[in-house]
Amino acid sequence: MMEKLYSEQEYAQRFVSVEENLKRIREDIAEAARKSGRDPQEITLLAATKTVPAEVINHAITLGVRQIGENRVQELCEKFDKLDLSQCGCQFIGHLQTNKVKNLMGKVSMIQSVDSVKLAGEISRQCGVHNTQMDVLVEVNIGREENKSGVDPDALMDFLAEISSLPSIYVRGLMAIPPADASEKETMQFFSKMQQYFVDIKTQKIDNVSMDYLSMGMSADYAQAILAGANMVRVGSALFGARVYKNT
Ligand SMILES: *Cc1c(COP(=O)(O)O)cnc(C)c1O
Repeated sequence: MMEKLYSEQEYAQRFVSVEENLKRIREDIAEAARKSGRDPQEITLLAATKTVPAEVINHAITLGVRQIGENRVQELCEKFDKLDLSQCGCQFIGHLQTNKVKNLMGKVSMIQSVDSVKLAGEISRQCGVHNTQMDVLVEVNIGREENKSGVDPDALMDFLAEISSLPSIYVRGLMAIPPADASEKETMQFFSKMQQYFVDIKTQKIDNVSMDYLSMGMSADYAQAILAGANMVRVGSALFGARVYKNT
């Protein structure tokens, strides 16, 4: 028998809670946008969909979610054919191994987690093979954490200069995840630093590098991130509820 993650009744309940959550999140986003002097339309809500079944993701799309982000290549590939992406973009937001890049071709419109020259090179190479191009964000290890993905802030300019010459990728902005154990005040400082890098790089006008997206802020701090300048927030549990991991 096919094992379903949820009973029909549980799906119905989840659909209702996703709708309520989405309404609240949109209100929060609009309020933070206005407080920071921007139009709420300028802020992209990306639904972080790891562990969320395709049925629930599709429901969120019918409610107006226009970007989703997956973390694991295997999970994305398993769900992909069940997703209704006719009106919704799909991005990759998790740590990406070079040997898995090929599996994302034709599935995602942006990879938010580019943090090595090797990875950027492989994305560009695969794009060449598939006669396509890829938008990417550079992930910055803004907290300079030892075991965390992301480019060190001090190496960011050199990194951009190096990958900007790759033929088939376009750098569209920056992404960051501040340290999980940071206080609210420290998190705000990390967000502000990211905003400074974003603005600094924008003024430098590097070929093939445009600063269109500053992707930061998750369920616990998306409003603060917007106040600090984010124009894309990646929200998972606040939208879909606490994550349920299948034990396989
Ligand atoms: C899971 C995840 C999110 C969303 O996290 P929540 O706290 O559930 O909102 C955002 N970004 C990335 C990269 C993630 O892996």
